[in-house]
Parts: sequence; C-alpha cells; structure tokens
Amino acid sequence: MLRSMADQDSDRWIFEVLAPELRREMKSLKDEIQWTDLVAQSLRKLHAKGVKREEIERTLKIMPFHPAMVRGITNLKNKASPQTTFYCLSNANSVFISTILKERGLDSVFEGRVITNRAEWDADLLKLRRRVDPDGPQHSCKVGCSPNMCKGEELERILYPQGRQGGQQRAFDRVIYVGDGSNDFCPILRMLEGDAVLCRRFRGLQKRIEKEGQEQNLQCQVVYWAGAWEVEEHFNALS
Ligand SMILES: [Zn+2]
Repeated sequence: MLRSMADQDSDRWIFEVLAPELRREMKSLKDEIQWTDLVAQSLRKLHAKGVKREEIERTLKIMPFHPAMVRGITNLKNKASPQTTFYCLSNANSVFISTILKERGLDSVFEGRVITNRAEWDADLLKLRRRVDPDGPQHSCKVGCSPNMCKGEELERILYPQGRQGGQQRAFDRVIYVGDGSNDFCPILRMLEGDAVLCRRFRGLQKRIEKEGQEQNLQCQVVYWAGAWEVEEHFNALS
C-alpha cells in the first residue's frame, strides 16, 4: 500500500505553483466545502483564469518526489522474494496520480491499482468527481473518516475481494502500509499483527496512533520514518 510517496500534496501543490490566491481561498473554505468538491471548484477557477492543461501537467511533473522513494519501490517490486503488489490509495485524483507516476517511471508498478477520485480532461479543464457519488449511499465508517472515501473500506475490498463472510482468506499474507494523514488511521486498524504501517512522523497519522491506537486496538507493527530514504531502508530489509 502506498501513500505519502511524494513530498508534497498534489491537490495543494498545483495551486501553490499556478495560482496562490486560489490556494489561499482553499485554506479558508476547507471547513465549509468537502475537499474533493473544493479541489474541483478550484480547478474550474484555474481554467477560467486561462491556465492550460500543459501547465498543470508540467507542474505535476516537477512536484518533489524523493529519488530514494522511487528506488525503494522499484527495487522491492523487482525482488523475487517477497513478491509484492503495490496499491495506491489516495484522496487526490486519477489524472494527478497517473501523471506523477508516469513521470517517475512508476506507472507500471501501480497499473490498475490506483484507488482514488475520478478525473478527466475536457480540453484544458480537468473535471474532477468524488469517488463516491454524493447522491448515492455513503460509507458507514465509525472511525472518523471524512465524507467520500473511507480508506479502511477500500483496503478491506483489496484484502477480501469476495467479502469477509464465510471466512474468506485474505488476498495477501502481509500488508505494509505507508501513510501520513489522519485518514490513514482507519485502514491500519484493519491490519493484523504480522503487518506493518510505515508512518511518517509529525503528521496526522502519528497523532492519531498515539492518541487512539491503544483504545482502538491497533494490532500491526508501527514503524516511524521522516525521510524517504528510511522507507527505502525498510523496503530493502523486507524478506
Ligand atoms: Zn474509515
């Protein structure tokens, strides 16, 4: 499982680079408007300002992404043992993620396994929709996931594609989850003792683990990291 691969949040990065005044506006509206809707609205405003598709793509391609992270993922993927399958669970969107992964040569590693909001280009406008239709049924998560995506439920669907009833076996022997945000807390509660979360320090996930980990019966191992090179180290040590 892979999140927090990049050193920046793509939703914010785009506007910081191309239209800081929209970034400021997002900061003031983020408690009033659901995040994906807010990014969609800001993308429409960016389009109205005349920003072209090429500029958005170029901005995504220059987003900081640590070479050690690329190397760590690539080397782990190429190892014969353990055999790994990489997924990307993200609150960003399909266009941002595919553009970034492609630029870093990681698109084939995650091919068909990016779980995120839907986006598509309409000429220079990037149209973005929530992963979960706001007019349809919503997630039933009790751990405090924000509207739209519950990463815990998404992880469950990956681990138990046929559902959990009838004692279905888990699709993977071991789960290594790389995360940093408070919304990564829900999925790691679904993991087992032999699994591990690689938690980036000083962000929302660490706070939630420290505050709620025990009472919520967090079972997996917790490994903290601050620099991407440390994730590479952990990946290299996996056997
Ligand atoms: Zn949840």
